Amino acid sequence: MLVAIVSDIHGNRHAFEAVLADVASTGAGELWCLGDVVGYGADPNDCCALARENAAVCLAGNHDLAVTGTIPLDEFSHGAALAARWTQEVLADDHVEWLRSLSPQGDEEGVGLYHASPRDPVWEYVLSTLLAELCLDVAEERVCLVGHSHVALSFVRPEGEAATGDTRRAGDALDMSDGEWLINPGSVGQPRDGIPTAGWMLLDTDAGTATWRRTAFDIAAVQAAMTRLALPERLVARLAYGL
Ligand code: ZN
Repeated sequence: MLVAIVSDIHGNRHAFEAVLADVASTGAGELWCLGDVVGYGADPNDCCALARENAAVCLAGNHDLAVTGTIPLDEFSHGAALAARWTQEVLADDHVEWLRSLSPQGDEEGVGLYHASPRDPVWEYVLSTLLAELCLDVAEERVCLVGHSHVALSFVRPEGEAATGDTRRAGDALDMSDGEWLINPGSVGQPRDGIPTAGWMLLDTDAGTATWRRTAFDIAAVQAAMTRLALPERLVARLAYGL
């Protein structure tokens, strides 16, 4: 089955809609979301509605769990905490209930799904080969998908060798039929790899391949909506740089 993998939408409706339109042109049979549907962005209700309508699988991310009150806001940066509090005020009860029903980890078609990492599905950022090794040591599945860092990347540990990692660009394709893998589709709503377009991925569960994709969205419209709502200026500015 061809599956579109999205993560870290963060209330960015323009980016999510652009990705969904792109996904529709690929023939993907399902959409799996690795969490953080809300937080940061101006349209948390729309993003929840789109995720509920389109995602066969959806994990809970740390921002989702903070907005539902499941985890405290203490560990969030100032801007992230402000945005989370604003999201709590505007999010419909129905969407809050839905977010509460989600788990930060899952398993589909033999693929491990984690919002953050197999060691800590809520908080750990996997951005080094050392951490990737530790995660692969505890992962029950040979291929794991993670989000949370907002960086499109892959780590692989071939049988009997050390793990290596690479950031991933649009069009990069991998054959994952051998070795242990930890892969990140990047972020739909707030990319942080220096490329200001929405990151996502196509996973072919039969062929064992992954292909990274990027989709342009109307950054100015997203920024204008956030500014109108007086969301933190730093969160507005970073969208233009993809950082
Ligand atoms: Zn996130």
